[in-house]
Amino acid sequence: MSFVPVNEPLLDGNEKRYLAECIDTGWISSEGPFIKQFEEQFAASVGRKHAIAVSNGTVAIDAAVEALGFAPGDEVIMPAFTIISCISQLVRAGVTPVLVDSDPLTWNMDVAQVAARITPRTKAILVVHIYGLPVDMDPVLELARRHNLRIIEDAAEMHGQTYKGRPCGSFGDISTFSFYPNKHITTGEGGMIVTDDDQLAAECRSLRNLCFQPQKRFVHERLGWNLRMTNLQAALGVAQLERLGEFVQRKRQMGAAYTAAFSNIETLQLPLPQTDYADNIYWVFGMVLADSVPFDAEEAMARLGKMGIGTRPFFWPMHEQPVLQRMGLFAGERYPVAERIARRGFYVPSGLALTPEQQETVVASVRKLMEN
Ligand SMILES: *Cc1c(COP(=O)(O)O)cnc(C)c1O
Repeated sequence: MSFVPVNEPLLDGNEKRYLAECIDTGWISSEGPFIKQFEEQFAASVGRKHAIAVSNGTVAIDAAVEALGFAPGDEVIMPAFTIISCISQLVRAGVTPVLVDSDPLTWNMDVAQVAARITPRTKAILVVHIYGLPVDMDPVLELARRHNLRIIEDAAEMHGQTYKGRPCGSFGDISTFSFYPNKHITTGEGGMIVTDDDQLAAECRSLRNLCFQPQKRFVHERLGWNLRMTNLQAALGVAQLERLGEFVQRKRQMGAAYTAAFSNIETLQLPLPQTDYADNIYWVFGMVLADSVPFDAEEAMARLGKMGIGTRPFFWPMHEQPVLQRMGLFAGERYPVAERIARRGFYVPSGLALTPEQQETVVASVRKLMEN
């Protein structure tokens, strides 16, 4: 029995040619021509003035948070249902994360709950577009304007997606992307920070490179990190970006095929194909087991694994993270939708290299799972 992995990237464009160019010319570090080319082309693809390539999507958020210069005790509103990457630098900087529950249908931050969480200490809203559909941005932008709040936009899963026709990644004071191999385009490891603000861009560039100073290189006014992307990664990025449109189309076809195959399983909640502001790009194809199903996601994933199908669980909510609870965060707080989808939700193979035959195997296995 051959195993269907949860993700395999597609690297059959110009990746090899551009990588060979790096090796032939000796440009393998972060000093290399593909970096600038990738940054410029990426910025253009999301309609932003600046793009700063970094070593992964997590540190892109770290740098964004650091660049915005929050003070201890400041509050940032963010979804409970997201990846740990969104919260770590806030917590390290002494910022108080304030959580909002998810919409049960899109699994994104329920924007109707944001206003009630705003206090005089609120400085920003961190939005995270989850699994393929964007956050409903208009109400968030309106609140940010009215209360003079910054927006950090985690668009790690949103390559090629738009909200009301405008690119995801164009909404934040700072927006970030990841190029991990399960994202729509990959550089192996990698990330990008985008912004229109010259000052924030300069700060992110400086933070990326240890805050070396142009005049006195080894004299530091601020602590940065080494977050540099290599020319090798950027070479992959340029090759991948050439195919973004095609990749998004492929993901949508995959999503449509799964949706058609599973739509008559009433005990399985599927991703919404569209909302009134976007068509799903199916970063992953997630599903949530109805409460009537006698097993949870963990058991479903174990059973699918025995049938040779790779899966991943949904995110685990921030207020239920042991590391954060031990810091005294979120004591007694409940976010019922996030808690439920974390326990009932998982996703099936949906990488770009998934073949139609593999997809049929997944469909047959999920049907078998849900018959029992
Ligand atoms: C993948 C992902 C990240 C982290 O990116 P890495 O490159 O793996 O560090 C951050 N946020 C979201 C929403 C993600 O999906």
